[in-house]
Amino acid sequence: MYSKNTAIISACLMGFNCRYNCKNSLTHYIDVFLKKHNLVPLCPEQLGGLCTPRERAEITHGDGFYVINGYASVKTISGIDITNNFINGAKEVLDFVKSYNIKLAYFKEKSPSCGVNEIYIGGTLSKGAGVTTALLLENNIEVLGVK
Ligand code: SF4
Repeated sequence: MYSKNTAIISACLMGFNCRYNCKNSLTHYIDVFLKKHNLVPLCPEQLGGLCTPRERAEITHGDGFYVINGYASVKTISGIDITNNFINGAKEVLDFVKSYNIKLAYFKEKSPSCGVNEIYIGGTLSKGAGVTTALLLENNIEVLGVK
């Protein structure tokens, strides 16, 4: 069982090479976060069955809320529809936080899964949440964006 101050974190922010290009996004804040929380690293895209490296993907329009409600999809840059992978990954993360009563996530900005305030739409940085962020927010999990 995890303690009360446990939070999940985008695995790439913690230094795991799980980004689409096999790189990480290790955050300068990791020591600050580790002082405050027990951190559990998760990568929604890998949990949804996508491999690493993988083709870069974007939400087609709107944001993650549109995707989880069936109004938009997620496609790779070459046009392959991977919406189901993104939704399955989001559900895996939600199941995990619910199972362990975790209430907080630190997520990587600008990702179609983990973005909180910013994601790419049509190659342009736009306001909006990623797919996993949207599902967590709809279930009253606090999600803090990390650049
Ligand atoms: Fe990082 Fe999230 Fe993208 Fe995985 S899905 S590489 S955890 S931003």
